[in-house]
Amino acid sequence: MTRKQKRTLWRIAAAAVLCVVIALLPVEGLWRGLLFAVPYLIVGYDVLWSAVRNILHGQVFDEKFLMAIATLGAFAIREYPEAAAVMLFYQIGELFQGIAVGRSRRSIAALMDIAPESAVVLRDGQEEEVSPDEVRVGETILVRPGEKIPLDGVILEGRTTVNTAALTGESLPADKAEGERVISGSINLTGAIKVRTESVYEDSTVAKILELVENSQEKKAHVESFITRFARWYTPCVVVGALLLALIPPLLLGQPWAVWVKRALIFLVVSCPCALVVSVPLSFFGGIGGASREGILIKGANYLETLAKVDTVVFDKTGTLTQGSFAVDAIHPKQIGAEALLDIAAAAESYSQHPVAESIVSAHGGDIDHSRIGQVTEIAGKGLRAEVDGQTFYVGNSALMEQIGADYHDCHLVGTVIHVAREREYLGHIVINDQPKPDAAQAIADLKALGVRKTVMLTGDIQKVARAVAEKLGVDEVHAELLPGQKVEQVERMLQSGAKLAFVGDGINDAPVLTRADVGIAMGAMGSDAAIESADIVLMDDKPSRLPLAVKLSRRTMRIVNENIVFALAVKAVILLLGALGIANMWFAVFGDVGVLILAVLNAMRCLGKVE
Ligand code: ADP
Ligand code: MG
Repeated sequence: MTRKQKRTLWRIAAAAVLCVVIALLPVEGLWRGLLFAVPYLIVGYDVLWSAVRNILHGQVFDEKFLMAIATLGAFAIREYPEAAAVMLFYQIGELFQGIAVGRSRRSIAALMDIAPESAVVLRDGQEEEVSPDEVRVGETILVRPGEKIPLDGVILEGRTTVNTAALTGESLPADKAEGERVISGSINLTGAIKVRTESVYEDSTVAKILELVENSQEKKAHVESFITRFARWYTPCVVVGALLLALIPPLLLGQPWAVWVKRALIFLVVSCPCALVVSVPLSFFGGIGGASREGILIKGANYLETLAKVDTVVFDKTGTLTQGSFAVDAIHPKQIGAEALLDIAAAAESYSQHPVAESIVSAHGGDIDHSRIGQVTEIAGKGLRAEVDGQTFYVGNSALMEQIGADYHDCHLVGTVIHVAREREYLGHIVINDQPKPDAAQAIADLKALGVRKTVMLTGDIQKVARAVAEKLGVDEVHAELLPGQKVEQVERMLQSGAKLAFVGDGINDAPVLTRADVGIAMGAMGSDAAIESADIVLMDDKPSRLPLAVKLSRRTMRIVNENIVFALAVKAVILLLGALGIANMWFAVFGDVGVLILAVLNAMRCLGKVE
């Protein structure tokens, strides 16, 4: 509880005690009213004050205004205990809601806890403790066991285990040795390591995640903005309704004023929309918070809403459904030796971020002399053109070979074939193979079980490989040999036929598709910047199995939101009716309003919890 909340609690307690005492006193008439005004003001002075202030600012119709006129009206018709009680319960509801919001915020803040406070840099052999944003790229930082890794980088010295639970939801610590990458925001558990930084703090994984989570509050779901708009016209309507209820029967039908004014006030109290206004955003807030604990970052409530309705899931292959680290199966050179072929390919690929490139470089294993490499141009979805040792080489798939007119030939082996040509002279190919991720088949089965109608795989790789992978994983539909632009076309075609479509990719050669889909979901938040930026949802640990989990989480959130809307409106409608008919009294109204609020908030808090 914050200081202010504690103070409110004391005010509520004091007012409650006073109310009970005054109710027992044998005072009647105006004195009784004056006495009840004391607890009323103690607990409600701030509500009255902000109602006045809002009126001065031209915002007349909010819930504080409703409460102010309802309670003042109750005083006017001499329902003193009721007036004080309405205010008292309203404040209890407010306090409760404040605590709930605080809790959700804290669970997101727990994620915020990944923010490193400082970094130890080695400068001229001296350790210097600085703020993480003062460290430059290429400097060496020292991270001791138990400390947070402040910046992304590569281990220069030492070995350790790191815990990335706060970032990825992955609870198993991972071993890291010299030469391996570590990610800012993870916790160094066992050994002291020296790390050469690869980015400034602003571009680091941790800074990006924090920014993303903070901004997620700004993107509202449709229901959420609907509720806000709803409250905007609803409240004035209620006030007008209450006025009519107070005026018409006495004026036109000669009914007693006291009865109808009282009914109008009850009407006002019950119709306060706070249960909706509060619980709907709180549910989304909780849903996003709960998901982030599972390593699923959702950039806004609107995406949660869309994800719940998705019926088609389209996957990229390499790096998304497969591990993206290829093993070299065979090297089939022409003209030159096998080693020379691998050497050229590795040199040409050494600047590329593509999984194919990284695999070829690691298969080569040795050091690559960067001075050998001239200009490199990536040809998206096909491969690349690179100057190595002063000559021009093309490394890529058969489409690339056709494009340059090289006389290539296919391989009898099943696998991704990477052809190499010097200008137009064919030098042979390297056959590489990629394994599906261990949880990919299960993820696809789970999506099916959740009622996703169709799963599709799109890839730039060759038909043979694509079909083999699709069959292993149980994907319904495959489209292979696609350029990045053709992936977009495929997705547009499915969107046109009315699919609610999620695209899952790694951000390499598929960033445009991520943007085009109803929801873009990125794997590989740890690597590809394009992914984190173009995607709406990021799966931090690259595991396809997070996807069915994300769908479940989003559906649960939507279910809870809808439950709250229906429940709140239904209870209110009933009490309104009873109130108008004179069956429900003020106490009924108070419990109707605050009770519904509290139940709705409690229900909304369920969004934060785990799903099975
Ligand atoms: P996917 O859709 O499976 O993620 P991409 O669209 O990224 O695949 O790439 C399609 C194909 O283009 C790859 O299978 C590979 O044959 C070729 N390719 C792309 N980039 C490179 C590269 N840097 N080096 C060699 N081949 C590449
Ligand atoms: Mg890809």
